[in-house]
Amino acid sequence: MPRPLAGPLPRIRLLATGGTIAGAQTAGRGYRAAALSIEALVAAVPQLAILAQIEVEQVAKLGSQDMTEAVWRKLAARAQAAVADPAIAGVVITHGTDTMEETAYFLSLVARTENPVVLDGAMRPANAMSADGPMNLFNAIAVAITPAARSRGVLVVANDEIHFAREVTKTNTTQLGTFHSGQRVLAGLANAGRPHFYAPPVRRHTAASEFTLPARTALPRVDIIFAHAGMDRALIEAAVAAGARGLVIAGVGDGNLGAPALAACAAAAKKGVAVVRSSRTGGGVVERNIEIDDDRLGFIAADELNPEKARVLLTLGLTRTRDPRALQEFFLAY
Ligand code: GLU
Repeated sequence: MPRPLAGPLPRIRLLATGGTIAGAQTAGRGYRAAALSIEALVAAVPQLAILAQIEVEQVAKLGSQDMTEAVWRKLAARAQAAVADPAIAGVVITHGTDTMEETAYFLSLVARTENPVVLDGAMRPANAMSADGPMNLFNAIAVAITPAARSRGVLVVANDEIHFAREVTKTNTTQLGTFHSGQRVLAGLANAGRPHFYAPPVRRHTAASEFTLPARTALPRVDIIFAHAGMDRALIEAAVAAGARGLVIAGVGDGNLGAPALAACAAAAKKGVAVVRSSRTGGGVVERNIEIDDDRLGFIAADELNPEKARVLLTLGLTRTRDPRALQEFFLAY
């Protein structure tokens, strides 16, 4: 355990959105995400009082499968308002684990701050046997008050690990060690409130990001399409017909897709729809012009981003440009 600090404790703004960390097990097999308030979660971890003065705000109360652009906007605004206050050392956000990586990456692209912004969640409901939420929250607060966490962008803290927003992904449906940063090293470890940091993040984020949220217009529609053997044109055409301004293909292998689907994507790109090739494999780099002639077809390669993060970057990228070459530069920079 860290020792109590001398002098006034740092102030942390704790923004709550729900998730299993606020979940309550029900009588049967299941549980209800987002059942508990943030006040209840903080009250369950009295040890937080040795780390920080915590100001709480319930921004939403949902399972993160229900995360929306509206909640993302609210979170971004509330996090930005918090870090604008020089008395606030950092922001912690409690969040369901299902889409935590998307929210973390989104915030890492739109939050203008050097201060720590840390997301945390839990795999077990708050009232489950050996719940992981209390220690994850303790570690998240400990990371957010640490000067060494500054300028590292948005972080995800869970299961004693600290992950960069760009690298982290959920890899397991139920187990505590679900978060992995398989492409890169961890940002660090958090051992019972003692953070240890390793390498810095590799790409642009937060204070160095060029993305801002358009105030009055909704973000453009971007759909993810999962490729498979025997795939035809239908889903690609349906997405374009539904108004998609961008498509992220969770391609087979190195971001590949078969001839009929490829032809549909080429037709979409010709109409001005941005087509990003990512991979369904869960690892590796999708490079340009390997088996698919991206230059000729006007496609974009996702580099290391998984499909869900490629969707976040493409959504924000499309608020700046529709030029595939300029969009490609974003995928090499962020
Ligand atoms: N579906 C829930 C959510 O993402 C449960 C997952 C969790 O929080 O661990 O909010």
